[in-house]
Amino acid sequence: MLIDVHCHLTAPEFEDRVEEVVEKSIKAGVKAMITSGLGYEDGLKVLEISDYRIIYPSLGVSPYALEKHEQVIDLINRESKRIVAIGEVGLDYWRVRDDEGRDRQRRVFREFIELSKSLDLPLIIHSRSAGKYALEILFEMRAERVIMHAFDGAAKHAVKAVERGYMFSIPPSIARSQQKRNLVKRIPLENLLLESDSPALPPVAGRINYPWNIRVSAEWIGKIKGVSIEKVIEVTGRNAAEILDLRL
Ligand SMILES: [Zn+2]
Repeated sequence: MLIDVHCHLTAPEFEDRVEEVVEKSIKAGVKAMITSGLGYEDGLKVLEISDYRIIYPSLGVSPYALEKHEQVIDLINRESKRIVAIGEVGLDYWRVRDDEGRDRQRRVFREFIELSKSLDLPLIIHSRSAGKYALEILFEMRAERVIMHAFDGAAKHAVKAVERGYMFSIPPSIARSQQKRNLVKRIPLENLLLESDSPALPPVAGRINYPWNIRVSAEWIGKIKGVSIEKVIEVTGRNAAEILDLRL
């Protein structure tokens, strides 16, 4: 099953085009898309477009825009039975360079990890330029159901996360990223997932990305692992259904 575990169908790039994007994704064989809310208002939109046939909701915040994060926590509590994950949440040390800002990110991140444990929901983690630090906090808090999305850290840190059963979702930008290829080399297929992060992280820089481009991720994973693309789609699909508890 071709499953996109992380995209943003409510992004301005898809305004008035969600139906068209979903239609084309279905035609391309995509069976499920997890669309992630960034903040409160976006979270409401995510819930509104989720149909639980192909679009499934996840609620979170951008780590660099935490203004209404308490409202997002309330929303997650209210909608906990309807969402498949909490995310994206995490750290972004690329956008936020000052100690105070990073400190705030870590505090809020801990709140979301706590919430995921109390609600028994998986986490989708953003960790730009902060892979090692995000993992340290997750390990310390004994988070168990974890998807590291578009992980840009060193493979040696990822390997430690694999030992704890964490999953890594691979975006189509692997087509132009040696770091992502190294990561795939070191992580077993049993811990890999496909994500588009659309409209971001396209296979070709500067374009708009779409959910069906997860096939590009699958192709590269197959090439690196020496297995067929069908095998990659089968195993990553099973992994996704399992960690997100999707009944497809
Ligand atoms: Zn994202």
